Amino acid sequence: AASAGPGAATEELLALDRQHVWHPYGPMPGTADPLVVESAAGVRLRLAEPAHGQRELIDGMSSWWSAVHGYRHPVLDEAVRDQLGRMSHVMFGGLTHEPAVRLAARLAEVTPGDLEHVFLSDSGSVAVEVAVKMCLQHWRSLGRPEKRRLLTWRGGYHGDTWQPMSVCDPKGGMHHLWSGALPVQVFAEAPPAGFAAEPDPAYVAHLHEQIGRHAHELAAVVVEPVVQGAGGMRFHSPGYVRALREACDAHDVLLVLDEIATGFGRTGELFAADHAGVVPDVMCVGKALTGGYLSMAATLCTPRVAEGIARGSVPVLAHGPTFMGNPLASAVAGASLDLLLSQDWRTRVQQVSDGLRTGLAEAAELPGVREVSVLGAIGVLRLDHEVDVAAASRAAVRAGVWLRPFRDMVYAMPPYITGDEDVARIAAAMCAAAREG
Ligand code: PLP
Repeated sequence: AASAGPGAATEELLALDRQHVWHPYGPMPGTADPLVVESAAGVRLRLAEPAHGQRELIDGMSSWWSAVHGYRHPVLDEAVRDQLGRMSHVMFGGLTHEPAVRLAARLAEVTPGDLEHVFLSDSGSVAVEVAVKMCLQHWRSLGRPEKRRLLTWRGGYHGDTWQPMSVCDPKGGMHHLWSGALPVQVFAEAPPAGFAAEPDPAYVAHLHEQIGRHAHELAAVVVEPVVQGAGGMRFHSPGYVRALREACDAHDVLLVLDEIATGFGRTGELFAADHAGVVPDVMCVGKALTGGYLSMAATLCTPRVAEGIARGSVPVLAHGPTFMGNPLASAVAGASLDLLLSQDWRTRVQQVSDGLRTGLAEAAELPGVREVSVLGAIGVLRLDHEVDVAAASRAAVRAGVWLRPFRDMVYAMPPYITGDEDVARIAAAMCAAAREG
């Protein structure tokens, strides 16, 4: 059956998909046939019909960093069902509700330092938009409207809406499409790679100098701490995050840490900022916030930022999306956070990390593999060429694993619940993908 191609029902669905449905970064009409997922449970995606002999795939992607507890977790299913019995949504203007309030208080408690004011939005990109708005409004309110540019590292990724795109790597992805239209930000070189490497003093001095030089026009520095994710999967020393904090303090610039990918344990600390012991002025979380169940993100800020905004002629934060604080998402986010913290999550992430390290130990010897890196529950094979995405994905599927290689990388960030044998299969599939891609 596997070699006979899709059955009639799947073929009809795919024809409709090609005609009507945009996929991420996809053409219209569609050209590639996505795999049809029928259901998912634990760490396995069940396909509508076999692909390359496999009906079930181990999810090596946690649905883009989000499904840290896997799929159909009984506690999270119950949280959604329970909230559904009360209300699935209600507007947040003039109304409030327990799931959102408890979630905000809990986030304030578990995030670093005095990040205690929480704006609940519906996606990571919007959380970054809100972060930028908070910073610009803070300075405007203090009579410094000229402080409206952002400084960021090359090689970053912060989302696909306008302000976030302006701080994505201008060379990477598709954002060069918008050059000339986007706000022009200040780009610093990406920090030297290597989580365990000592910070390079010359680079740190350069960072200080660049922030100092632009401070008069900078509202904020916006970066991903410790792991630059979708912009290139690079790890750097927490020392560079400390260096940014110091430079921002010295030059009166706000520091925004985008923890949308790194938050909730992925790098081995609850937040990547915890590796550095740094408290940003603003922090964004998303993705794993709801355990991947529903779309929700949050922007947290310190009293300093909020007080600045409150002093303005418009003393309110000028933002308020329809689905702000959605009760279903809030409820499942609260349950996901409790579930994470009620377990020995560090050991689990460490076990995934160890499994990836062991499974990828020999990958460095594969032809075309330039670099192997593992941090927390993230494993990356960097190749010496652009990966052939179709061939690499096919090799992974044949090995029973869902991966999504891109640019010169084959990488995985499995759910934390992935057992040792499945982690070994993910690592083997990464090697197969690197070999064939
Ligand atoms: N920031 C980071 C670090 C991300 O990795 C992403 C998504 O990959 C985003 C922001 C954007 O989040 P979303 O896709 O939910 O808009």
